Amino acid sequence: MSAPADPRLFDVVVREGLYGLNREKLAGVLEEMVLLAGGWPETAVPGARALLKVNMLAAKGPERGITTHPEVVAAVGLLLQKRGCRVFVGDSPGGAVRGVERYWRNCGYLDVCRETGMELVNFESSGSREVTVRGRSYHVALPVLEGFDLRINLCKFKTHSYCRITCAVKNSFGIVPGLGKAMLHTRSPRPRDLAVNLVDLYEAARFDLHICDALIAMDGRGPSTDGRPRPDGVLAAARDGVCMDAALCAMAGLPPRELDTTRVALDRGLGKPPEEITVDGPRVFRDFDIPRESWLNWVPPFLGAVAGKLLKAVPRSNSRCTGCGFCARSCPVKAIEVRNGRAVMKKGKCIMCLCCHELCPENAVEVRIPLLRRGGR
Ligand code: SF4
Ligand code: SF4
Repeated sequence: MSAPADPRLFDVVVREGLYGLNREKLAGVLEEMVLLAGGWPETAVPGARALLKVNMLAAKGPERGITTHPEVVAAVGLLLQKRGCRVFVGDSPGGAVRGVERYWRNCGYLDVCRETGMELVNFESSGSREVTVRGRSYHVALPVLEGFDLRINLCKFKTHSYCRITCAVKNSFGIVPGLGKAMLHTRSPRPRDLAVNLVDLYEAARFDLHICDALIAMDGRGPSTDGRPRPDGVLAAARDGVCMDAALCAMAGLPPRELDTTRVALDRGLGKPPEEITVDGPRVFRDFDIPRESWLNWVPPFLGAVAGKLLKAVPRSNSRCTGCGFCARSCPVKAIEVRNGRAVMKKGKCIMCLCCHELCPENAVEVRIPLLRRGGR
């Protein structure tokens, strides 16, 4: 990391000690951070429509460290409303094909939108359009492509058992609505192949600004309920998501080029070489436990799909299962049967959309990552 060319501006601005602050206090800090990072997008003018693309991976409360904290969403919303913008909040989680409302409620977005006058956007029902990036095609939720004057990436800083770290670039996955995300996982079983798709989606999203929430970050076996929430109290702001990922990875102890998405993006000429990135603020996440690189990355491409299938992590019901059958009725590919009072997931049919994991009223569906896929841990 080097000294900035313009001493007043930085590629990435980081602040710590913010855990527990309310939206007004966070807004004060964020205003200064965004200005130091190069300012609000030029399109943030009175009457503009602003889309906040959050990380809404699971229908869990903010204390779990899985989703973008609603107070951060509210703080950014308040700052944009002060500029006269109309503000919208959206994302497509993996298991929301049967409804996104439970996510909005449990993640706290329904409440903050009611309190601040922001509006929620349903990526599942807004339609999608096929977009081609570098010769590969994707279905992207329409709100990301049209109808908004600016798009802000409100990502989360977490570990990821498969991709190692999720931050700005990985958060672009949620612009693919519904089961399209599960299909991409199936198409690209090796993390380094999925990284190519993720960087494509990052390019398609054309975010104008990135704000990362690590008020409650996550390490260990992230990015969901198996990870360890950490009250780091950190926020970051950047005009470029690749720079943000590189800077925060370095803070957590992972050399930026060892993150597949950052390496792929840098090879395309996106972002900046890590040694040229200017950072204002603290430089260290203490004792950050990052998953090892997946062994799948070292499998030859022609064997990747076979290996991925053989070691596919399929959800399983545990002893809390009551056999109610709700998951079987909700599974989009009919991969679940209730046998002897217990749900049984069929490996061959499952597309890992995680609907059953999300919807089970008894919290009885577990997703265990095979030992080899965890890199031996
Ligand atoms: S929804 Fe949960 S409790 Fe009901 S059958 Fe499925 S796993 Fe069992
Ligand atoms: S069994 Fe597989 S496909 Fe069916 S709901 Fe669960 S994760 Fe989705």
